[in-house]
Amino acid sequence: MSSDNDEQNSKRKGLGYFRSKDPLVYIGIIVLIMGIAFTVYGFVPINTPNYQRIPQPVYISITNGTQGFISADQAAIIAKPLFNGTADNVVCFSGSPDYTCYGEIFTGMVTVTSNSAKEYGGAMDAVGIAAFYLGYMYEPLTLKKRELHSIRIRVDEDICIANAVCVELAPKVFQLKKQNTPSLLAPLAYVVDPFGASNDEILQAAQMCPTGAIIIEDEETGERIHPPLPNG
Ligand code: SF4
Repeated sequence: MSSDNDEQNSKRKGLGYFRSKDPLVYIGIIVLIMGIAFTVYGFVPINTPNYQRIPQPVYISITNGTQGFISADQAAIIAKPLFNGTADNVVCFSGSPDYTCYGEIFTGMVTVTSNSAKEYGGAMDAVGIAAFYLGYMYEPLTLKKRELHSIRIRVDEDICIANAVCVELAPKVFQLKKQNTPSLLAPLAYVVDPFGASNDEILQAAQMCPTGAIIIEDEETGERIHPPLPNG
């Protein structure tokens, strides 16, 4: 086995992903991510108009002789002329029996951040962490190895005839060695990336190798997969 193959195949070890059977773990992760997003949004500066309230309010009846009950927006339209042109904006709050309407004077744009987004984000982070922790207590995360990459591949350079069939079938896995100096010897194949194709594609390339130079073994057990051993 060449050192190149050893090095490439060693990268297979430890490949995998964490999983838990408890959905609370995933719910917790999702809520936590959403909470972080809200929190980050809460720190984004936003330009917004700023108004200064005129201390003295006006009062508008919540009923109108022709329209019946009126909304706060309608009350604001009615109230605006009553500020004698000094109010740039009017907001009304319902009361009984009148709306209390305040005139506001525009003072310019200000930069603010969203405290409510920060609070929602913080609360969601807490809920997400709690859900993750509870789920983890019931079903801890375990490392699930990728079955797709449970094989070990190497090229037997003693019998490779460098016809590049494997390179054509799985070019991301096999390549021919580059020759920096002119040589009568053909460049041999080697494993450039053991994750460059599925196991089926790699096995097919090995089966098409005319000399059986591509050797595939089970990474866990070391058992020969291809080519089959004489008595296997
Ligand atoms: S198909 Fe086999 S003989 Fe041909 S280059 Fe690949 S490993 Fe070598």
